[in-house]
Amino acid sequence: MTVVPEMISLEDARALVLSHVELLDAEEVGVLEVIGRVAAENLKSDIDIAPFAHSAMDGFAVRAAQLANAAPDASVELDVIEEIPAGSFYEGEIGDTECVRIMTGAPLPDAADSIVKYEIVSVVAGDGRKGSRVAFSKPASAGDNIRSAGEEAKAGEVIVHAGEVIHSAGVGFLTSCGVTRCKTYRRPKVAIIATGSELVDPTKVPGKGQIRNSNSYALAACAIDAGALPTVLPISADDFDTLKAAVMAATSDYDFVITSGGAANGDYDFIKKVVDDAGELLMTTVNMRPGKAQTFGIVNGTPVFGLPGNPAAAYLGFEMIIRPALRKMQGYSHFERPHISAKLASDTKKKDPRRIFDRGTLTKEADGSYVVTPAKNQSSGLFGPIQRSNCFIVLPEGPGQYPAGTVLDCVLLDIPEEVVL
Ligand code: AMP
Ligand code: MG
Repeated sequence: MTVVPEMISLEDARALVLSHVELLDAEEVGVLEVIGRVAAENLKSDIDIAPFAHSAMDGFAVRAAQLANAAPDASVELDVIEEIPAGSFYEGEIGDTECVRIMTGAPLPDAADSIVKYEIVSVVAGDGRKGSRVAFSKPASAGDNIRSAGEEAKAGEVIVHAGEVIHSAGVGFLTSCGVTRCKTYRRPKVAIIATGSELVDPTKVPGKGQIRNSNSYALAACAIDAGALPTVLPISADDFDTLKAAVMAATSDYDFVITSGGAANGDYDFIKKVVDDAGELLMTTVNMRPGKAQTFGIVNGTPVFGLPGNPAAAYLGFEMIIRPALRKMQGYSHFERPHISAKLASDTKKKDPRRIFDRGTLTKEADGSYVVTPAKNQSSGLFGPIQRSNCFIVLPEGPGQYPAGTVLDCVLLDIPEEVVL
């Protein structure tokens, strides 16, 4: 078998996998399909935003000069000669003793330069609408309560740059600029193959010695969360030829192939041999726990990642190494989940020299500091403690004692990489 470095650091493993995946091609989609995804092109507005100067308030359009001497004991009275609802406009003159009633969003008449909101205007005669007389008891300034034309963008200007993640507000911004379809990087098609002769589909009640294949579904969920399009392929028995055929077939239909199980050195562990036989084996072991046995290689030009079978080990391998790769393929530029330093709530120690990721729950104290409580059961065979946790507590390489109160780094679960804490 090809000789690859025995045990590499998590950082090296991530860098290795990232260096073997490429940005996928772009596809054009409707703006509602681009939420949370990366723009693959510069997007431009076809008009000025705002398209025209308009009122930001329901009020009265005036020229500030008309109200120069207005005061509580010397109010200025003006005749309301017109009213402009949103969608209409007024192009006439406004005499020195006149004003125009205007609604939010209606174009500012050329003859006016200021909007005075209703609330500070008193009605002298009529109902305040066209034909009424109203009084102003304060001066106004030119530009008051006006949103100017082109204040956000000019026609032809780039409004979202290639590489930006488009959020919900971005969808509003784009549509205001006339962009209803745009290019984004294609979602990676991910094949998920569980290997293990003990595995049965989750719809079955396991017989003697059998367990349900939960990894495939957890990994599919992780893939969806990473923006990918997973397909759960049939369970492969612990048999070299069966696994090789399944992996080979998947490499021609998918952008990334993930297996779980059979990644160590047991008699029935075949993924390393399959990758070595069918392609190029690049990695077998990573200095982390859970999840030392992490296989990676290229088969048929497609990245193939062999995760361990233990649920927490498979989950961590996906989270720490595969997720960044799937994100790179979609054009994201952040690959680290947010971290927080927290005080341990209870004593912890480790003998294993690997970097350990313990499952834990972070809480915030009244003084703003964080405390982290390790999950009682740290078995790598369980998904439950991860479901109930909100972080991984990082116990650095080497043996160590960590009494309660020790401050440790915690990696937040399920929080997008772009979030700044
Ligand atoms: P392996 O990595 O194949 O040695 O498997 C390690 C442990 O994980 C064993 O207890 C397996 O039964 C369990 N396991 C393997 N594959 C899966 C799976 N798809 N779903 C749940 N548990 C699994
Ligand atoms: Mg197995």
